[in-house]
Amino acid sequence: MSYEYITKYDSPNFGYPRGTRGQNKPKKIVIHYWGVTGQSFWGVVNYLCRNGGNTSANYVVESGRVACIVNQSDAAWHSGTYYDNISSIGIECRPEMSKGDIDTVAQLIARIWKDQGKKLPLVGHKDVVATSCPGPYYPKLDELYKLAEHYYNGAKKPINKVVQGRSKGKDNLTIAKEVLAGKWGNGEDRINGLKKAGYNPNKIQDIVNKICSVNEVVEKPKVKSVTELAKEVLSGNWGTGTGRKRRLTDAGYDYNKVQAEVNRICGVSSTQVKSIDAIASEVIAGKWGNGSERKSNLEKAGYSYSKVQAKVNELLS
Ligand SMILES: [Zn+2]
Repeated sequence: MSYEYITKYDSPNFGYPRGTRGQNKPKKIVIHYWGVTGQSFWGVVNYLCRNGGNTSANYVVESGRVACIVNQSDAAWHSGTYYDNISSIGIECRPEMSKGDIDTVAQLIARIWKDQGKKLPLVGHKDVVATSCPGPYYPKLDELYKLAEHYYNGAKKPINKVVQGRSKGKDNLTIAKEVLAGKWGNGEDRINGLKKAGYNPNKIQDIVNKICSVNEVVEKPKVKSVTELAKEVLSGNWGTGTGRKRRLTDAGYDYNKVQAEVNRICGVSSTQVKSIDAIASEVIAGKWGNGSERKSNLEKAGYSYSKVQAKVNELLS
């Protein structure tokens, strides 16, 4: 939204002595509000432009309207001190502080920054002297500054969302962690507290939920039994050889236990590394017993009794 820039009203209330031009070397912008609600923009302009008055400002602003009543280079009588009047630009803002009022003030600040060739800091009148001015604008100074930067950087449209509050510096993730740590209370209290501090309770809750669901996965991994794993191994899900060993180990399982179970299911002894010839020699040497005992021992160990016996017969023939 653009605004009407009005220069046809000049205040005689500036300079030392009155009417002296060119004394202002602006180093900051002082934000004021015109106090009582319900006053009209034009009423305030007329009052600050009155002959013989002792107060003024450089600008009077409401939504869509800016009156420049004292030039930026002249010392308007707005701050209450000589020093501040010759080193700042004073803006009188509408106390109702509608969204449009804030938007126009921000655009004016951007305009002043461009005129001055730099971004002057914003202060409240109460930062200069003891006063309640600028009322509701005081906690909005950071927001105003950010919105003014937005215009200063060339934006034509107002930004949708402005950070609220004067000293907010935390991102949503930090706040979500604080919520989890119990710093923001619960239920309605939490929602109201977050809103008051300028945060969006729904967004914070979304992040809290995400953090919690991640923790659940970490805390409760699905643990498979050795038998389940062995069946998966047999189905080929874990690959073979060293690849299988690495995958199982990486997944946090005991490779040896799984492999032993695989062997048990298959009826294969994990110590079966000997050739049929070697076993046949052992049988001949009497290490595997005789008769049904020999057969049972060989089969328990995973060997084919008939194959070993055939070899024994061949060796003995
Ligand atoms: Zn003031």
